[in-house]
Amino acid sequence: MEIIFATKNKGKIKEIKQILPSFDILSMEDAGICIDIVEDGKTFIENAIKKASEIAKVSGKVTIADDSGLEIDFLDGKPGIHSARYLGENTPYLEKNNHILQEMENVPEQKRTARFVCAIAAVFPNGKILTAQDTIEGRIAYEQKGENGFGYDPIFFVPELGKTTAELSSEQKNAISHRGKALQKMKQLLSQEEVH
Ligand code: IMP
Repeated sequence: MEIIFATKNKGKIKEIKQILPSFDILSMEDAGICIDIVEDGKTFIENAIKKASEIAKVSGKVTIADDSGLEIDFLDGKPGIHSARYLGENTPYLEKNNHILQEMENVPEQKRTARFVCAIAAVFPNGKILTAQDTIEGRIAYEQKGENGFGYDPIFFVPELGKTTAELSSEQKNAISHRGKALQKMKQLLSQEEVH
């Protein structure tokens, strides 16, 4: 059974293929689909459903989409659903991360709590929708550390590991990350459907 993963991000495609090896995962490029979807939902789940629904409509195939971001408690949940666009879509993350570190400059350890959130939606051609969401809890670090990962990883500190997510290998990160755990939940839900 073919499933389209509605993303242009090659890293995400690789990860979903590792987690769902029994499905034939197609990127939008593989499926010959090139449309931009406006992410104007109020929640991660709303955005994931919107992306998956629009691509499922065009493709006629089961489509999975995700939406994710960083919530910082001290900043009232910012950047949240606006994580990719925060301080401008094309602003380098080195700059975005430094800006956040400055905003958090004198904030004590116990108030630096934050989480990455990932929502995943699978939409079937008959309109059926499955959703899964998970998080990874952590703290905003005091400086940028680590070369792996992407986005806000250099400032996301996981206390249990004593490292930022940018200091983890992709396997280590997938095992505990918001996206890895939400994908595992989605795998469970899909295995209960007659799709493979
Ligand atoms: P989207 O889910 O592709 O719309 O991206 C959401 C944004 O959230 C990314 O561009 C990053 O800024 C941030 N983000 C989501 N997941 C992660 C992660 O695992 N590490 C670092 N940043 C992330």
